[in-house]
Amino acid sequence: MTDRRDELAGNLARVEERITAACAAAGRGREEVTLIVVTKTYPASDVRILSELGVRHVAENRDQDAAPKAAQCSDLPLSWHFVGQLQTNKVRSVVGYADVVQSVDRARLVTALSKEAVRAEREIGCLIQVAFDAGAGGRGERGGVAPEGVEELAGLIAGSPGLRLDGLMTVAPLTGEYAGRQQAVFDRLMDLSTDLRRAHPAANMVSAGMSADLEQAVAAGATHVRVGTAVLGVRPRLG
Ligand SMILES: *Cc1c(COP(=O)(O)O)cnc(C)c1O
Repeated sequence: MTDRRDELAGNLARVEERITAACAAAGRGREEVTLIVVTKTYPASDVRILSELGVRHVAENRDQDAAPKAAQCSDLPLSWHFVGQLQTNKVRSVVGYADVVQSVDRARLVTALSKEAVRAEREIGCLIQVAFDAGAGGRGERGGVAPEGVEELAGLIAGSPGLRLDGLMTVAPLTGEYAGRQQAVFDRLMDLSTDLRRAHPAANMVSAGMSADLEQAVAAGATHVRVGTAVLGVRPRLG
């Protein structure tokens, strides 16, 4: 257990250095970027260690794993982000522990989140997940709405009780015209964020960048990076 603590502390320090260097290179203050550690597939004991090491934001992508983990860690001062494709039948459970849902990508999901947030008397932060591999009106391979669909979804979230429109999120596509072009993806996300903030000035979160591409995301202007592998290690299974 102490070994694991040392390992996580070392990894966290290296990620912290990378974020600090990326901020400096971009002429941004370190405090402009928030680290979210993606703890999917790793146990609650790791989440506890991370909390002790000063991590304040964690993310999960599957409700089946996240719900028991969040329950085991409910005494910790953590914000929980949900970043996976979300089915409406899981919304009630997710609203029980998530502070922010980063993967909002369709009207039906907004309706379900609003209903459950009101029922639980909670306010849920929502990020619209943008898919740059989606055709207009379609959805991305890893979830997300096409850029053309952002404005309508934003209006819907902003008008839904129990929900707070916080901003945008993306996962760089693995296929299609943007595959391997993270910088272009993140720059486009920033343009969409600029548009969004004209109508919704408080929706200023931009969640982009993972272990392999956090530098490009910080360079583009991301406010939140979601880092899994670089902190916790290579995941034992696909998640
Ligand atoms: C797993 C995951 C991450 C973290 O990816 P790493 O490459 O392990 O840093 C970030 N965002 C989402 C949506 C994820 O599912």
